[in-house]
Amino acid sequence: MYFPTKIPSLTGDFITRLPQMEAADIAYNVLSVFAGDDLQAEELQDICREVFSFPLPVKQLADKLHVLELFHGPSLSFKDVGTRFLAGLLKLYVHKYNRRFTVLVATSGDTGSAVAAALHNMPGIQVVLLYPKGKVSQIQEKTLSTFDGNVHALEIEGTFDDCQRLVKSAFNDEELREKLALTSANSINIARFLPQSIYYFKAWADLQPAPHKRLCMAVPSGNYGNLTGGLIAARMGLPVHFFVAGSNSNKVVPDYLESGTYTPRTSVRTLSNAMDVGAPSNFIRIREMFGDDHAQIKKYIKGFTATDDQTLQTMQEAYNDTGYILDPHGAIGYAACRHHMQGADQGIFLETAHPAKFSDTVEQAIGQEVPIPERLRHMIEGPKRAISFPADFAEFKNWLLQAGNIR
Ligand SMILES: *Cc1c(COP(=O)(O)O)cnc(C)c1O
Repeated sequence: MYFPTKIPSLTGDFITRLPQMEAADIAYNVLSVFAGDDLQAEELQDICREVFSFPLPVKQLADKLHVLELFHGPSLSFKDVGTRFLAGLLKLYVHKYNRRFTVLVATSGDTGSAVAAALHNMPGIQVVLLYPKGKVSQIQEKTLSTFDGNVHALEIEGTFDDCQRLVKSAFNDEELREKLALTSANSINIARFLPQSIYYFKAWADLQPAPHKRLCMAVPSGNYGNLTGGLIAARMGLPVHFFVAGSNSNKVVPDYLESGTYTPRTSVRTLSNAMDVGAPSNFIRIREMFGDDHAQIKKYIKGFTATDDQTLQTMQEAYNDTGYILDPHGAIGYAACRHHMQGADQGIFLETAHPAKFSDTVEQAIGQEVPIPERLRHMIEGPKRAISFPADFAEFKNWLLQAGNIR
């Protein structure tokens, strides 16, 4: 698990200039302070331009309530941002240092499709995706199991936590690390979560909240990489008054906020399955940022939990009240934001995936069909190519080492 040794502050002048800047410029300015000498200015600029080439719109849904739509990228979830940045870096390293990489990723759905979309057919790169059998939506499964060429999907008989454990064990295995030049595309990879701070800056710039009003940002959370991005932005100087961590019944973090005791547990299945994480790997980063001071963390991050019934009800209410179609993850963000906003507070919640990715649930909630965007239709064509696999490290390692499986 990597973390910057220092989180630099940006100047007040930079914050004032944000509304005049494109997302790619914000990204370059923010990320260059972390990049050091590893990247030349032009290299980072090119990557930022490529990553932030799709819209990140903020829309008003109700009085003082706004949605930041993060689903306009190729795989229709916010995970496109981090994975495309990682892809940009890998492409550069393959090219510049003539290196090859094997990218390992455990996914509860959206990471897999984002990584696959970003790295498919990239020379020098092999991708191995592990996803839990029967625990991702039908459409999600199609978006990650139909790729060919350098993308290999393994359908693991277990939970997301099992998938994550297999990936972690692989990284702890010296032989695998050496022979396959492993790199992680999960949010343990710093190149993935830092770029996620950018859209918080961009959303703030679009909304330009009144300085004397409190701004709340609500983040539907599972592994807590997205929220960590927001906290980094705030630590660098972005004026966010407080964050809300929205969770489903996998509520380890809201429970910690309430009790001060952190108890990871086995994840349970919910409708917002990309948040079905029982041991969120980024939470340690958040504790680190606050010097593990529970009182400080609790002051700045509010917890919110929604059951599946409450999620469905929120989707229905939001649709009736505003005409807006939420996906089950964004619905928890919406409810979380509304729950904690008071008086004149302004709120932005993050809509982390396009509702069409979860059309079954959405249709159940609002009684309407969700139109499928063309780029999603394109992704889900083609036969399923995933290989069934037990949640067993020895077998996984064998498969990885077998010449011809990944080359
Ligand atoms: C991954 C994901 C989340 C959770 O994000 P974390 O960074 O893991 O907290 C929420 N919503 C959707 C749609 C996702 O794909």
